[in-house]
Amino acid sequence: MSQTSVLSSLSEINEKYRMFRTITSETDAGDAKFLFSAKDNLTSKDMETCSGSRILEGYRPPFDATSIARMREAGGLLVGKTNMDEFGFGTFSTNSAFGVPRNPYDLERSCGGSSGGAACAAAVMEGHVAIGVSTGGSICCPASFCGVYGIVPTYGRVSRYGLLDYGNSLDKIGIISSNASDLGKYVGIMAGADPRDPTSCVQPAIGARRKLESVAVPKGAAEGVSEAVRKAFADGLEALKGMGVDVETVEMPSLKYAIPAYYVIATSEASTNLARYCGMRYGHQYGDLSLKFDDYFTSFRSQYFGEEAKRRILLGTFTRMVGFRDRYYSKARMVRQSIIGEYRSVLRGCDAVLTPTMPFVSPKFSDISIMTPVESYKADILTGPPNIAGMPHASVPCGYDGDGMPVGMQFVADHWDEGVLFSAAEEWEKNFDAVRPEVSI
Ligand code: GLN
Repeated sequence: MSQTSVLSSLSEINEKYRMFRTITSETDAGDAKFLFSAKDNLTSKDMETCSGSRILEGYRPPFDATSIARMREAGGLLVGKTNMDEFGFGTFSTNSAFGVPRNPYDLERSCGGSSGGAACAAAVMEGHVAIGVSTGGSICCPASFCGVYGIVPTYGRVSRYGLLDYGNSLDKIGIISSNASDLGKYVGIMAGADPRDPTSCVQPAIGARRKLESVAVPKGAAEGVSEAVRKAFADGLEALKGMGVDVETVEMPSLKYAIPAYYVIATSEASTNLARYCGMRYGHQYGDLSLKFDDYFTSFRSQYFGEEAKRRILLGTFTRMVGFRDRYYSKARMVRQSIIGEYRSVLRGCDAVLTPTMPFVSPKFSDISIMTPVESYKADILTGPPNIAGMPHASVPCGYDGDGMPVGMQFVADHWDEGVLFSAAEEWEKNFDAVRPEVSI
């Protein structure tokens, strides 16, 4: 399909899979070198940016996020903004205010979250490049559920300028694609120092691709995962050994504390970041402007934030309150340091830490609707640790369950060592028999 015909079929594709929140009005791809989409929490000059939230409806940013600007400079055409959980709060993209993307392998199941629309677009459109954002698992989870490749570079590798923050110390911009080679190619385009994001300014250059020679599997990594995931992961390990990769088992006892620490840090940061959405500065103004300002803010925020956003504002405000801060927030930061230390010491002896990506295949919407918040937070058990550590990680498809649903496995490398992940994904792709979803529109 030519790029121009892809453009003309986007609305029809979207009707079925609901991966886009906004689609470009452009009908001719002209001499664009590639088509790409961006998660709807990255500002884009010509398209509304809502971060999955009703509270931002109508917000048209006056500038492009650096990641989007760099893709455009490289000849990319932004075709749409992908649907997501409100402000990134979720694991199944069911917390979006604008409909829920559907898994291309089974429309009754989730695409994962929170970059669900991005992974869906990558799975449905061969060669499509989707920019995703991960705070605690939002690239690898949907990549795994949709059977595609996803990479989260080191924290600070890609400028966050123009990203609507969820948790500033955790947010990382990366790529989801059906081709492994796109990971390195497009991270390379987006990466690099940007004076508008100081955390991007001290990074070493991306190293050359380095062959993956050894992986460490944390003891118990495959405990508590579903039978289908356990089997596909075991097959994946055998296949890696067949490719000449050494596999060893290691103890990483701190990893089990990643989820509670992550949710404390992430919600603490999110609760301050969301304070700016008060109905005056971004998006439309709604409601009764004659109210006193605090009544106005309260009524506006009560009406337009979704349930999960409110839950996280409450939780995050509590964990950083004077009197509780030491017990929760400061402790969570100490846990983060011990997780980083544990990864570092393991990675001195091998190239990457390997686990399944998600503990189960994509669940049905009917099952998600009866999950408690804590049950859904626990789904981040394997994607949380590298995210809290700010370490680069990538998910690759490694098998399918009896219903044909994809299973993913996740490689974690040391800070700034993306080169080994690019090469691991590319080598893996050559050896893996991928089953593409049957896409009919
Ligand atoms: N599921 C995690 C959360 O809800 C991660 C989401 C993300 O990375 N944005 O916080």
